[in-house]
Amino acid sequence: MRTSQLPDAEMLQLAELKKKLTADAELMLGYPVSKDFNYDELAEFLKFPINNLGDPFIESTYQVGTRGLEVEVLEFFAALFRAPVNNWWGYVTNGGSEGNLYGLYLAREIHPKGMVYFSQATHYSVQKNLHLLNMQNIVIRTQRSGEIDYEDLRDTIRMNRHMPVIIFANIGTTMTEARDDVRKIKAILQDLAIQHYYIHADGALSGSYSAFIEPRPAFDFADGADSIAISGHKFIGSPIPCGVVIVKKNNRDRIARSVSYTGSMDTTITGSRNGHSPLFLWYTLKKLGEDGFRARALHSLKVAAYAEEQLRENGIEAWRNPNSITVNMPAPGERVRLKWQLAMEDGWCHIICMPNVTFAQIDQLVGELLEDHKKINAA
Ligand SMILES: *Cc1c(COP(=O)(O)O)cnc(C)c1O
Repeated sequence: MRTSQLPDAEMLQLAELKKKLTADAELMLGYPVSKDFNYDELAEFLKFPINNLGDPFIESTYQVGTRGLEVEVLEFFAALFRAPVNNWWGYVTNGGSEGNLYGLYLAREIHPKGMVYFSQATHYSVQKNLHLLNMQNIVIRTQRSGEIDYEDLRDTIRMNRHMPVIIFANIGTTMTEARDDVRKIKAILQDLAIQHYYIHADGALSGSYSAFIEPRPAFDFADGADSIAISGHKFIGSPIPCGVVIVKKNNRDRIARSVSYTGSMDTTITGSRNGHSPLFLWYTLKKLGEDGFRARALHSLKVAAYAEEQLRENGIEAWRNPNSITVNMPAPGERVRLKWQLAMEDGWCHIICMPNVTFAQIDQLVGELLEDHKKINAA
């Protein structure tokens, strides 16, 4: 193996990239990623070709892995999501999208002729996943908040009541962080006497911390979900995109297939699996503990409340959904938008008060928004 350094030109290239990443990460308020992690203590683990290929619970003949820690991460979330004690299973994914794909995959195996219902505000990756899985689907209207329109859902299911129902519920939509209420949805299914159904909860951002909110939003297994996916790099924070999916074990058993080549079971979507991301998630969960995790969520909610209040006091029509860390506002001028990396849709932007966002940053942003406003009015 070569031990010499990179040539000067490439060293310079790396130094410049690092400078740019440092600057860009500093001013990111528009995307739901935490940046307050420090995994320096894990740097040594970059020396190993870690791979958790196959099932997290079944050893493989490929032994350079982090399965033990992965299982601890899964146990934490299974408990948090009130999964049935002796009937859950899961794995650390490459992100929320993969977890959602997995939930839909199980739903299709159980109800091959099912119809999928999801709201207009659903993440863009879901349409593609439904296409990959070749599942029939219907888009349901949303309320202005971004929450699913329960009346439209009820009417639409009623018209198709001969088909099994597969619900793709949003626990925090991408734009406004609206939560669909899994209990209300389940009540509709029971009211319509639907016999065969499956409910998947997409909790990419808010699913990670909803369990700490009072009153607790209806989103988990005890509320009626059959599977839940979250992203790991959003609320928890990770240098590599990752996620967690928890499902009911008896459902996963339908697709399990043992593979003699690896010794494990082929129960996941990909073959090789990132074994570093479980390490990151495990590290943060152990450092925070459940109390630290709760404090992290409450801090974000406080900053979001402050942001909403400051914006409104300064004449900007900001609003947010109850107990959400996403503050919506009319899109400001391009300069401010690009500087703070604010995503825009239909003339609206949002700032997402991830745990690393400070009160001072909110003050700075509000100041710049007012400046921007003055300039526009003067022009
Ligand atoms: C971010 C997000 C996803 C996708 O998750 P990734 O981790 O980026 O794959 C899915 N659904 C919602 C609501 C999201 O916000």
